[in-house]
Amino acid sequence: MIDLRSDTVTKPSEEMRKAMYNAEVGDDVYGEDPTVQKLEDTAARMLGKEAGLFVTSGTMGNQIAVLTQARSGEEIILEETSHIFLYEGATASAFGGVQTRTIKGVRGAMNPEDVRGAIRPSDIHQPVTTLICLENTHNKAGGAVVPTENMRAIHEIARENNIRVHLDGARLFNAVVASGQKPSDFAQYVDTVQFCFSKGLGAPVGSMLVGDRATIEQARVWRKRFGGGLRQVGVLAAPALLALTQNVERLAEDHANAKFLAEGLAQIPGLAIDPATVDTNIVIVNIAGLGVSETVLIDELKKSGILCGGFGPQLVRFVTHLNISKADIVSALETIQRVVRGLA
Ligand SMILES: *Cc1c(COP(=O)(O)O)cnc(C)c1O
Repeated sequence: MIDLRSDTVTKPSEEMRKAMYNAEVGDDVYGEDPTVQKLEDTAARMLGKEAGLFVTSGTMGNQIAVLTQARSGEEIILEETSHIFLYEGATASAFGGVQTRTIKGVRGAMNPEDVRGAIRPSDIHQPVTTLICLENTHNKAGGAVVPTENMRAIHEIARENNIRVHLDGARLFNAVVASGQKPSDFAQYVDTVQFCFSKGLGAPVGSMLVGDRATIEQARVWRKRFGGGLRQVGVLAAPALLALTQNVERLAEDHANAKFLAEGLAQIPGLAIDPATVDTNIVIVNIAGLGVSETVLIDELKKSGILCGGFGPQLVRFVTHLNISKADIVSALETIQRVVRGLA
């Protein structure tokens, strides 16, 4: 099987498994796990923030960020296809009583003037806007890198209005490598950042939330409420530390493989994709030209050993990652071409 469903399917390397075995641990709820502390400090330093909090998943990190920075009855602004809005089970409203206000973006970037226009005036009839959430890279926008200039402009508007900004940087390091910028170049325009170890960076479990010390202390309270206060969790922090120190630069290979895949798919009649829109490791193909639903194509590809995912009507998503080689992509393209021909 060539598994292109997600970069979450990566398996921990032998070195990661050894690091798990050898990890120095303690009770992290008591603040006594040295490996977790090292990971949190390393991440915070890399992003230019004061403190970090190791959490179980990207969803937990994002939702803790929302609940720490917005209260019941308040409103947050986000892009209408953002992960926080689409794929996190309405946690902000379910647990926090927080209302969401969405804005249509272009390749994942909200127009700063639209953001300004969505900020509520001081009025007894209206909720107070307290948080803006950004996403980079943007998953639904096909792994697009949102330019730091866009983040800067939105941050400026947020500051003028005393509103905080959170970055869902599940794949922030893909944006870092694709743009050649530093993690702190992105993080400087937001108060909090969540990023995932368990995606392209290749660790088995975990995400990091970073921000100023006071916010992270509050976030620690929410993590405990969510049941995310774990004990000897250094066994998970150890592979995450390897992911962060060893697997960032190699994301460029995933990006090259995704570009190569997109160029190949663009040649197949019935599939529509502009390879120039592939910034990182996600390739979203429109299959409307095939005359079958995406589930039919996905099922047929699965029978032929290629796994990919549906991403909306007539849309199929392929994601490259560290367990996928260039040879896998060459082989996948041959198979996809054959399957598509069979469907025609
Ligand atoms: C995967 C993802 C998340 C959530 O991460 P989980 O660890 O799966 O909860 C959040 N935001 C974006 C953009 C993602 O792609």
